[in-house]
Amino acid sequence: MRAAMAAAPLGDDVFGADPSVNALQEKIADMLGFEAALFVPTGTQSNLCAILSHCGRGDEYIVGQQAHAYRWEGGGAAVFGSVQPQPLDHAADGTLPISAIEAAIKPDDAHFARTRLLALENTLGGKLLPFDYVQAATDLAKAKGLQRHLDGARLFNAAVAQAAQSGGDVRVEARRIAQCFESVSVCFSKGLGAPIGSALCGSRELIASAHRIRKMAGGGMRQSGFLAAAASHALDHHIDRLADDHALAKRLAAGLAGIDGLMVEAPQTNMVFVDLTGAAKERSVELLAALNAQGIHTMGLYRLRFVTHLDVDAAGVDRAVTAIRGFFNA
Ligand SMILES: *Cc1c(COP(=O)(O)O)cnc(C)c1O
Repeated sequence: MRAAMAAAPLGDDVFGADPSVNALQEKIADMLGFEAALFVPTGTQSNLCAILSHCGRGDEYIVGQQAHAYRWEGGGAAVFGSVQPQPLDHAADGTLPISAIEAAIKPDDAHFARTRLLALENTLGGKLLPFDYVQAATDLAKAKGLQRHLDGARLFNAAVAQAAQSGGDVRVEARRIAQCFESVSVCFSKGLGAPIGSALCGSRELIASAHRIRKMAGGGMRQSGFLAAAASHALDHHIDRLADDHALAKRLAAGLAGIDGLMVEAPQTNMVFVDLTGAAKERSVELLAALNAQGIHTMGLYRLRFVTHLDVDAAGVDRAVTAIRGFFNA
């Protein structure tokens, strides 16, 4: 990846003249079946550009309570776009129940914000949304005249998991999911392993609007071709290996099974969520400190979250299991 970055031809992307950025944008748009794409520094900015392109002041978007584009982006759509979120609770499988989506769509009446957009996320907290559900939810949105956006930061994890279920091809599955939406945001900096960057895909018209918003948000990046080259390398080399991350997440979950005070959720992709129960609950701060001291980074903002990725191998997973078992004397 570093060699690809060093070799990347560069230009000024603010003027659309960086060949490496242009090549990446074409590549990801082609892969997912869209007319155009826009390279942006972060997934947060990608979602912001999408929501502000679909919605205007006084519009609203329907979104999950746990969705990144609602809960984890500082309220950006409301702050920068005067776009109101309508968050809905998730079912246990991560979906937003179709009946709840339907009930949340407001009639055209001066009392209400205009419901404009359905925003889904796949994977959501490491969970693959069932494809039939994605189709049904987006069909409903379409029938009701809503736009449809996918936060596919982890779309390729979803595609790998879906391909494993269906026996299909990973890239075909990615495209099938993406084609249920009018815009899709993909992160290169998560499981795909690039240092930075996301892309927003959509129609030429939508991307032209997103381009203007990216500029306003300070996301026009000049000679960003060396970053685009990293993302492009990731698309060429790091998609199929996501299956290894999924296998290692299963290995981690199996290694943590049966420890008193830990409730481990069976992973579907590359994330393992663990809840502390009983007396262990009081020891979460202590546990995080002990793991961090051993170079095992876990996030405990709401539950313990472990993520496998291309810098984690089986030995690393086993080291984490040993450290956690050691902590609990299990
Ligand atoms: C990480 C992530 C984002 C945002 O990406 P940043 O580059 O960190 O801003 C958006 N959505 C999901 C689902 C993510 O996992």
